[in-house]
Amino acid sequence: MPITVAVVGTGPVGLMLAGELRLAGVESVVLDRLEEPSGQSRALGFNARTAELLHQRGLLERFLEEGRPVPVSHFAGLPMDLTKLDSRHKYTLSIPQFKVERLLEEHAVESGIEIRRGHEVVGLRQDDEGVVVSVVAGGESYELQCAYLVGCDGGGSTVRGLAGIGFPGTGPRVHGILGDVESIETTVEYRTPLSYPGGIFGVAPIEPSGFRVTTVEYDVQPPDRDTPTLDELRESIRRVTGEEVELGQARWLSRFSDSARLAERYRAGRVLLAGDAAHIHYPQSGQGMSLGIADAANLGWKLAAVVNGRAPDSLLDTYHTERHPAGRSVLTNTEAQKAMTFPAEWVRDLRSLFQELMAYDDVHRHIMEEVTGVGVRYAMPGGELAGTGARTSLPGRRMPDLDLVTVDGEPVTVAELLRGGRGLLLTLSDGVMLPAAAQGWADRVDLVTAKPVEPAPAAAVLIRPDGHVAWAGDGADAERLLESLATWFGAARA
Ligand SMILES: Cc1cc2nc3c(=O)[nH]c(=O)nc-3n(C[C@H](O)[C@H](O)[C@H](O)COP(=O)(O)OP(=O)(O)OC[C@H]3O[C@@H](n4cnc5c(N)ncnc54)[C@H](O)[C@@H]3O)c2cc1C
Repeated sequence: MPITVAVVGTGPVGLMLAGELRLAGVESVVLDRLEEPSGQSRALGFNARTAELLHQRGLLERFLEEGRPVPVSHFAGLPMDLTKLDSRHKYTLSIPQFKVERLLEEHAVESGIEIRRGHEVVGLRQDDEGVVVSVVAGGESYELQCAYLVGCDGGGSTVRGLAGIGFPGTGPRVHGILGDVESIETTVEYRTPLSYPGGIFGVAPIEPSGFRVTTVEYDVQPPDRDTPTLDELRESIRRVTGEEVELGQARWLSRFSDSARLAERYRAGRVLLAGDAAHIHYPQSGQGMSLGIADAANLGWKLAAVVNGRAPDSLLDTYHTERHPAGRSVLTNTEAQKAMTFPAEWVRDLRSLFQELMAYDDVHRHIMEEVTGVGVRYAMPGGELAGTGARTSLPGRRMPDLDLVTVDGEPVTVAELLRGGRGLLLTLSDGVMLPAAAQGWADRVDLVTAKPVEPAPAAAVLIRPDGHVAWAGDGADAERLLESLATWFGAARA
């Protein structure tokens, strides 16, 4: 039987997407060219929005058991107080990427998802009926047929190239080295990444022991070899800080850069891109993995609705229109952070002005919401995105995880009501008269009445499976609600 969706890449994004598809009843196969997980971790944590997304699938507990919530983050090294974040999850979860991948893979396997390791995608062709993917495994080639193919195959994405999707942006202008080392001895103040005349130097503790040492230099041509040596890292620290440091044994050494690129389209027919395959940027404030996981949460339910025949193919176009700007926004903030950490005298004034601005609650909150992903809002048909109401207008934003009491007197939260990955039409106030026609979507959308423990931001809300509000009102605008149901969940049942 042809596979419905093929996902390329067992990174955090591919695994998250496969889980979302499975939840919506769609079979997928996940392919990765590596025989085994690399066991290495570029990312050392994820942001509040990822915590929210995992929580609304009932998965967060297992991540909390293996990670450590840290209530601070930073923007270009300027501290941010995440306790002020408007979220149940006021932290960055410090957890290495290899653990995120392991936990998502365990969940995928529990859900019955097929993972094929040592299977490299080398070709594809598509027509109106589906996609034929060429795969090489164990020296043999085979073809795999699927209805849709999603490239979650990282920054150098083969799928992106094969689909003819451009990746415009800027190439490397800085040279970064990261080393995970057993120990470090130095007199240099290093706990947060700091700018020195020669570049940036930072050290962070990593799980279960050891340190992540990073340097960034601006006018250095990296040597030809892919993997840096420990001596090269030591030399780089000396150039940046002017100090000698003692580094213990290295577990992993790697290079990174500030290349910033965004796929020109997230979709080409039946081929879609998510995660680093769609966007790469300077790794500041730890955003890339979380950005990709949010792509997967946006795409999963839409792709499932289309392959299940419940929504028109055009629903998939909204994946690009919603997530491309979200990717652009992260590129913008990371480029801004790069400018603010450039080791030049004139940047000091920019930083000190920015530091003054961040003392204002509104500015602090705006930057925090940007970096933690909770500020993302999508343009909703009939919703306002520009103008003065935009910041507070609910449609397009993610629904706050309110504490509620059901009509049976049971406590429940919005996140718990979203666990099944279905839509949610939630009545929060007495006297709301929703149109009877809304019952036509009851096979895809849960209709729930519950009382909020604290005042709610609306009398009734339609929430999509990814937690974003599609419509908010009191039922008086029945037309808009029905339009919104049809837009996001297809035609009503007869
Ligand atoms: C120094 C550094 C620090 C970072 N820190 C953070 C952080 O703290 N927080 C954060 O959120 N992000 C961070 N990031 C970014 C984060 O690591 C990436 O955004 C994340 O790995 C992207 O996940 P992905 O699943 O899209 O791709 P990847 O993790 O790159 O996975 C892609 C997978 O596809 C497979 N693949 C590739 N080509 C093929 C093919 N042709 N056929 C089959 N399989 C294929 C690969 O083997 C790989 O397993 C950091 C990045 C860097 C460089």
